[in-house]
Amino acid sequence: MTAFDDLFAANAKYAETFGDSGLTGRAARGLAVVTCMDSRIDPLGLLGLQPGDAKILRNAGARVTDDVLRTLVLAVYLLGVERVLVMPHTDCGMTKATDDDVHALTQARGVDTRSLDFHTVPDQQEALRHDLTRIRTSPFLPQDMPVTGAIYDVRSGRLLPAGD
Ligand SMILES: [Zn+2]
Repeated sequence: MTAFDDLFAANAKYAETFGDSGLTGRAARGLAVVTCMDSRIDPLGLLGLQPGDAKILRNAGARVTDDVLRTLVLAVYLLGVERVLVMPHTDCGMTKATDDDVHALTQARGVDTRSLDFHTVPDQQEALRHDLTRIRTSPFLPQDMPVTGAIYDVRSGRLLPAGD
């Protein structure tokens, strides 16, 4: 028994009926979505997408970090992305704690995380505006690329335009 047996068993079932779509790694709908790691978010389902349609970039808080920018550059120039949706969500854990709170929690477990920036979100609208600006003003991304923000409501399933 390992901690992953359930997953391999589920995959064996999945592969039994899996049909190779023949898709490439390019985003068929020309879309990249930056969203949170929150387990309640089904990015494909809530946006009417299928596997193959979009690049999905996830991290804590849907923040546009250096690594997200790096990934967007690759997605745009190599993988067919022509538009970006940044999609944080309601009830996000990143809006409920400061970096200092997180450092204190880890400290209590004997771990010093002060060299990490957690990019916690004191003001979600402000953070989203900041993150949209980071993409729009990146010297590495096309200046005319459509970029927008929306907040996903985890209770209603609705997407609310925000950040502009
Ligand atoms: Zn979240």
